[in-house]
Amino acid sequence: MFRLIGAAFAVLLLALAGFVGFRTMSFTAPPPPAAVQIADSSAYAIDTAAAAAHLSEAVRFRTVSIGDGLGDPAEFQRFQAWMIERYPAFHAVARREVINNLSLLYTWEGSDPGQPPILLLAHQDVVPVPDDTRAAWQADPFGGDLRDNAVWGRGSIDDKGSLVSLLEAAEYLAKQGRRPVRTIMFAFGHDEELGGAEGATQIAALLAERGQRAWFVLDEGMAAIQNHPLTGGPVSMVGISERGFGTMRVRAVGQPGHSSMPPRETAVSLVSEAVERIHAMPIKQQLEGGPALAMMRALAPQLSTMNRTAIANEWLFGPLLRQRMAGSPPARALLGTTVAPTMISGGVRPNVLPAEATAMINFRIHPRDTADDLLARARASVADLEGVTVEWAEPPRNASAVSSTTSSSYALIAALSREVLPDVPVAPALVLAGTDSRQYEAVAENVYRFQPLLATDEDLAMPHGLNERMKIENLDRMIRFYIGLMEAGAMQ
Ligand SMILES: [Zn+2]
Repeated sequence: MFRLIGAAFAVLLLALAGFVGFRTMSFTAPPPPAAVQIADSSAYAIDTAAAAAHLSEAVRFRTVSIGDGLGDPAEFQRFQAWMIERYPAFHAVARREVINNLSLLYTWEGSDPGQPPILLLAHQDVVPVPDDTRAAWQADPFGGDLRDNAVWGRGSIDDKGSLVSLLEAAEYLAKQGRRPVRTIMFAFGHDEELGGAEGATQIAALLAERGQRAWFVLDEGMAAIQNHPLTGGPVSMVGISERGFGTMRVRAVGQPGHSSMPPRETAVSLVSEAVERIHAMPIKQQLEGGPALAMMRALAPQLSTMNRTAIANEWLFGPLLRQRMAGSPPARALLGTTVAPTMISGGVRPNVLPAEATAMINFRIHPRDTADDLLARARASVADLEGVTVEWAEPPRNASAVSSTTSSSYALIAALSREVLPDVPVAPALVLAGTDSRQYEAVAENVYRFQPLLATDEDLAMPHGLNERMKIENLDRMIRFYIGLMEAGAMQ
C-alpha cells in the first residue's frame, strides 16, 4: 500500500517537473508580427560633429519651463527661430504650426493620405538648475560645452537630445530629396516638465478635433540601460505604459480640549491608525496585468535558469517570487501600485488635544489598479474610525493604457533598436515617471516611450540632476535610429 502511494507520488512529481520544465522552455516572447526591413544604419553619411555642435547650440537656449516666473517665453521664441535657421531643408517641406503660443506641431505630408501618420514627440522645455546645485556642476549648465566626447548641459538628454536628433534625421532625409509616403508629424511641447497642460494636451486636443489618428506615437521616457537588474547586462527598455499618480488626504477630527483627561482616541491617534491601515491595505503584486510579464518573456533567454523557472511558473513559485521581489523597490514598482505616506501634521502644543490632524499618502498607480477603486478600498479600511475622512487631495491620474508588444510598430522600434544597439535585447517596460505621451492616448492606440541611447547608471541620474550630458556616440545612435524609423516606417 505504502509502496503504491509512493509510486503514485513519484509519478505525480515527475509530471509536475515535466510541466514546470515545459512552461520554462516555452516561456518566451511571441515572434514579431512580420519581418521588418531595416537599412544598414552605418551607411548613413551623418556629420556627427556638426550634430553635436547643433545640440550644443540648442542647450544654450535657457528654455526653462515657464512656471513660478522662472522661464522666459522670449527664450523659447529664440530657440524656435534657431530651429528654422538650422534645419532649412526640413522647414522647406514641412508645415509648421504654433500651438498655444509656444508649442510646435510639424507635419511632413506623405504622398499616401490613406496611411495613418507617425507622431514623434520631444519637448522644448528643461527643468531649472537650482542655484545651490551650481557649484556641483563641472560645466556651465547652459554653456553647451563639448568635451570628453559629450555635449554638456541641462536638457542635453532631457529632452533636447531627442528634439535635435529628430530634426537632424528629418533634415538629412529632406536634404537628399527624400519624401515620405506616410505622413510624419512632430510635436514639440513647451511645458512637459510641468505636466503638459498647455502644450501636449492642447496639441492632442487639436489632433483629435481634426479626426487625426496616428499609426503610433513615440516619445522619450525609457532608454537602453547598461545594467538591467534582472539580467545584469544591457537591455533596450521600450516603455509601453506609465504609472498614474495621486495623493490621498486623510483627515481626522477629534474633540479639542486639555489632554489631562483625554477621550480614548484623539485626532492624532485616529490619523495615525488610518495612515497605518491605508499603508497596509493589500495591494496586488504580481506579474500579470501590466508590462512585467511581457518584459520577463522578452528577457527569458537572458535570465538565469532558476529565475526563468520561477517566473515561468508563477502559479507555483509566486509566493517565493513575490517575497524575493518585495525587498526591491524597483521590482515592487513594476509589480503593483506603490503607497507612500509622505506628510503628517496636527496639534500645536503637547498638552492640548487638537481638533484636527491630517496626513498625505502618495500613490503611484499601476495599470491594473484605478484611482476610484483605491479610494473606495482606503475608505473601507477606515470605515469604523469615527471622524476620519479620506479623499484625493487633487484629481488623481490613472495609469496610461498598456500598448501592444505584438504590433507592427513595436516590431519596427525593436528592429531599429537592434540595428543601432546590436546584441542588446529589447524588452517592454513600465515608465515610472510621467511624460507628455500620456496626453496622446486618444490619438493613437499604441504609444511608446524610448530614446535609443545606451545609458549607464551614471547617465540615468543625469536628467533633472547634475552634470547632464549627452555622449556623442549616443547622439549618433539616436540620429541613425530616427532616420531608419522615418525611412522604414514612412518611406517604403
Ligand atoms: Zn523629459
